[in-house]
Amino acid sequence: MRYEGTVYRPPSEANSLILQATIGCSYNRCTYCAMYLEKRFRQRSREDLLEDMAIASDTLGAQSVRRVFLADGDALIMRTSRLLKLLEDVRDHFPNFQSASVYASPQSLLSKSVQEIRELKEAGLPLYYLGTETGHPTVMERIAKGVTPAQMVDAASRITGAGAKLSVIMLLGIGGTELSREHAVESGRIVSAMDPRFVSTLTITPVPGTKFHEDVESGRVELPGERETLQELRTMVEHMDVTRTVYRGNHASNSLPIGGILPRQKDEVLAVLDRVIADTRIPLRTRPSPRHL
Ligand code: SF4
Repeated sequence: MRYEGTVYRPPSEANSLILQATIGCSYNRCTYCAMYLEKRFRQRSREDLLEDMAIASDTLGAQSVRRVFLADGDALIMRTSRLLKLLEDVRDHFPNFQSASVYASPQSLLSKSVQEIRELKEAGLPLYYLGTETGHPTVMERIAKGVTPAQMVDAASRITGAGAKLSVIMLLGIGGTELSREHAVESGRIVSAMDPRFVSTLTITPVPGTKFHEDVESGRVELPGERETLQELRTMVEHMDVTRTVYRGNHASNSLPIGGILPRQKDEVLAVLDRVIADTRIPLRTRPSPRHL
C-alpha cells in the first residue's frame, strides 16, 4: 500500500485494511496531539483511492479484506456523498467486505445529521471513534478540543441516534494534578451521557513539539503519578453510569491493563483498582516512550 507519512489507527483495527481517504486532520489544533502536525490536510481523489484499492486487492487478495479503517485523523469530514461513493468502491473491490470504521472529530460529526450517519452506517460505516478525552469544560478548553462538553455530547448523539456504534476515548492525566479529580468525575459523567458501545482509556504521554509537552516541561501542568492516575481512573469508572459498554483500558500507554463489561463488571474493575492503588508492592507496567505508542 502507498501511505503518506505515519498512519495511525485504533488498536482494535489491527486487522483492518487502512485506506488513507484524507491526509492529516482538518482541525489539527488539539494541544496534546502530534499525529498530524507535519501533514497539510487534504482529501484524496477518487482516482488515488481506486488505485490504492487495486494495489491492496493485488497484494493482499480481494477476498481477504473484510474490514477497512478510513484514515487519517478525521476522514468523516469528507462530504457524505463522497464517503458513500467510497464505500461503494470498497464493496466493488472487496467481495467479503463487512464494515468500515473511522476517527470522528467532534467538528466533523457536528457537520453531519443523524440521517447522514444512518446512510453511512447502512452503506457499511457502522463504527466511529470519538476522541472525547475529558468531560470537564476547563480541561476541554485548555486542550483546545474546539467544542464544549455539551457539543461533544451532541456530536456523539449523531452516532448513537443513527443506531451506529460509538467508541469513545478518554485521556487519563490530561487535567494534570490540579484538575485530576474534577476531570475524572466529569469524564465519567460525559461517558454516561453518551452511553457508548465502547469506551477506552489512554494515559496522556506528552509528545515533544506539542503545546501540552511545553506546558509539562515548563511546569504549568504537573502530571499525576502512576497511582494517582489509577485513582483518577477509579473515579472516572465509578462515575460511568452506562447501559452496556465494553470498557478497554489495555492500551500500551496505561500502567495497568484492565477492562470489563459495564455495568456488569464495574465492581470487579473498581476492586482491582482499589487493590493496586493500595498495595504499592504490585508492580505496574513500564510505559513506552511516545514514539513507541
Ligand atoms: S481532532 Fe483528533 S487528530 Fe485532530 S488534532 Fe485533535 S486529537 Fe489530533
